[in-house]
Order: sequence, then structure tokens, then C-alpha cells
Amino acid sequence: MHEKDWPLYPPSFLGILGGGQLGRFFVQAAQDLGYGVCVLDPDPNSPAGQIAQIHLQADYADQEALKTMARRCRAISTEFENVPAKTIDFLIEQGVFVAPDSYAVSIAQNRIKEKQFFQNLLSQTGVGPVLYHVIEEQAHLTNVPQEIFPAILKTSQLGYDGKGQQTVYHLTELLSAWIMLGKVPCVLEKKVDLDFELSALIVRSADDEVHLMPIAQNIHQHGILHLSMVPAPNMSLSIQDQIQRAAQVIIRELHYVGVMCIEFFILKDGTMCVNEIAPRPHNSGHHSLDSCLTSQFEQQVRVLAKLPLGNSKLMSPVVMLNLLGDLWLHGENNDAITAPNWQNVLAMASAKLHLYGKAAPKIGRKMGHINFLDESVEQALKSAHQAMEILGFPTIKE
Ligand code: ADP
Ligand code: MG
Repeated sequence: MHEKDWPLYPPSFLGILGGGQLGRFFVQAAQDLGYGVCVLDPDPNSPAGQIAQIHLQADYADQEALKTMARRCRAISTEFENVPAKTIDFLIEQGVFVAPDSYAVSIAQNRIKEKQFFQNLLSQTGVGPVLYHVIEEQAHLTNVPQEIFPAILKTSQLGYDGKGQQTVYHLTELLSAWIMLGKVPCVLEKKVDLDFELSALIVRSADDEVHLMPIAQNIHQHGILHLSMVPAPNMSLSIQDQIQRAAQVIIRELHYVGVMCIEFFILKDGTMCVNEIAPRPHNSGHHSLDSCLTSQFEQQVRVLAKLPLGNSKLMSPVVMLNLLGDLWLHGENNDAITAPNWQNVLAMASAKLHLYGKAAPKIGRKMGHINFLDESVEQALKSAHQAMEILGFPTIKE
């Protein structure tokens, strides 16, 4: 492909591997700019497949489908980190511009590689991972440092929303936890005393333009993101500076092109740690759909088309509240499904509701979110709590 062939202008097609809600927002952002979109996802009714011009309903390893996609789209991105590296490489061989590439994705897909990557960069970023120990085989269960407990055992691959994790309070519980997780390669990491959590969305273009989006402060419940607040209420200027520096080092050292999210822990003793990266737009950046001049998804489109990055400055304080399937389910066995009563929430002046078009609500499944835009993040948080009451969220201490 010659440089003169770029940027790619509408009405060309862009491709996205994966048809979940992140893919759906990518489709919307691309279509807003006049592009067509081709989605590859095996699910016949995926959130992104429903609205894309073309939905290839096939497996990610289906070479015929990938060839069709490559003929149609000169640029393709991914919306979830578990796309096989082979798929990405195959598309690149077909002459497609794929961002991010398989190197970056393969590190983010594997907690062991990811932690080692953070550890190796410590002198440049000033931020390391929490104390961890790699367990790839049974022999590695014996030489675990005592100070790591209480700890969390996490599968090296395929974990998300707190899945593939077991808390281990003592060495004696480690073997059974590892068996529970299927004896697969894992990292055991210290369960740290969190003060609060932050995430940084950062974008890098193919010609090394880097743009950091506003940093979010996140609250998780049962390992699933519950809400994000921007500007981050507890973030000092020095933490912000440190994150900005670390994020730029990380994205460049990964040779990453595209939108990525980096999660940070701030511990009670003031220490900062880097937790993980997501090689794609992220749930904690969904506020940007309504709060930023350029959303994380429009940035993803711009990177793919090799257009200049947008300005993602924050236009309004915002709180993003996730809506899980639990809200739809009632009865003793959660077998009665009724849609939440949106009426009173939509009557709130600050609420912007986004639903993902998923047919079946399930416990813990992300069905949608609401962005609350108010004059302060404190006020937006009050609005979010008001909405939680209206929608009948279970009361959980935060
Ligand atoms: P996932 O891939 O599921 O997002 P994470 O490693 O980010 O996995 O864990 C999900 C959440 O669990 C984190 O955002 C944090 O709230 C909590 N958590 C994860 N690791 C630790 C840890 N080492 N100490 C304390 N809390 C943790
Ligand atoms: Mg996480």
C-alpha cells in the first residue's frame, strides 16, 4: 500500500473484529463520518452486527471470511483482546492496515507477558505492577514469597470482568485455587489495599501522534466496572503527571497504534501500581461519547483511516453508570424478565442513556450505560445515585 493511498476517505469501508458494544460504538462513530463498516462476529445478533452495513457471521479463524473482509476493508481494528494473533497476521498478509497489531495484542492478552512488560519498563515509567509471582506449572506453587498473601490468583489468559480469578488468603489454599482455575498458567498477585482506581485512555496514530484522553476514576463491584467519574475526584496533579508520563512510555514501547486503556491502582499508602492494559477502547471511556469533543470511538476511526487525531478535551464533568442484566431479572430464580422503567431516568435533565441492543439479559452482562453530565462531578454522582434508586440497584457499600 502506498502512502499516497492514505488517508482513507468515506464512503470507504472500515472493518472491526468483534461485534459487542465496543464494536457497535465503533460502527456508529465510523458511520457518523460517512464510512461503511464490516463487522466479523460469529453471533448472528451481535450488537455491532445489527447496525453495520456488512456483518460477516463467521469464526475469527475463518480464512474465507477474513479474505472477504480484506477485499472490502483496507483498514481493520479489533474490539476485544482475545482475537487470535494469527487472525491479525493473516489480515496484514492480505495487505490490510490492522491497528493494533498482533505484537501489542499478544502482550495484552497474556497477564504474564503483560506484568513482565510493566516490570521491564519500571525505570522509564516510575510505576510497576503489584508484587506478583508466575505460576506456569505445579512446581511453581512451592516457592511463593510469603509476603504476597492475601493474594489473587488470575488466569494468564481470557480473564475479563473479574472472571478467571480466585482470592487466596494463605499458601495452603493455593493448590486448590489453581485446580479450580483449571491448572492453566496464572499470575498470583498481592491483594493490595486500594484507595482508588484510575484508568487512562490513550491514542497513538501510525505516524506517532499521541493523545491522552481525560483520566477516569473507577469503582468496581464484584470485579465489574460499576461507575466512572471524570474528572477523577481523588487524583492529585502529581498522580496525573505520573500517569501521563507512564502512559506515553507504555504506548510507545508497545509500538501500539490505536486506542488503548491502562488501569492504575492507587494504594492506601499512596503507592501507585499499573494493573493491566486493554488493547482497545474501554468501558471506562464510554463517558467520552457525550462528554468529550472527540469520543474514544471516533479516535479509533481516525487512527484506522489515518486521519489526524481529534481533540478529546472534556466538555463537561461526567459520571458513567453501567447497567447490568441484573436490573432486568426478577423472581426467585431470576426467570422473570422486565425492562427497567426508563421513564423516570430519562426525565432527569443530565442523563444520556445508551443501550446495546442485547436480546438476553444475564447476571453481570453489560446491557447499557448512562452518562450523567452535570456542572460538577459531585453533582453528576448525585444524579447517578438518584438513577440507581429509581432503577432499583441493589444497595452495596462502595
Ligand atoms: P479484569 O481483566 O477482569 O478487569 P482486573 O485485574 O482488572 O481484571 O481485576 C478486576 C478488578 O478487581 C480491579 O479493577 C480491582 O478492583 C480488583 N483487583 C484486581 N487485582 C487486584 C489486586 N491485586 N488487589 C486488589 N484488588 C484487585
Ligand atoms: Mg481490569
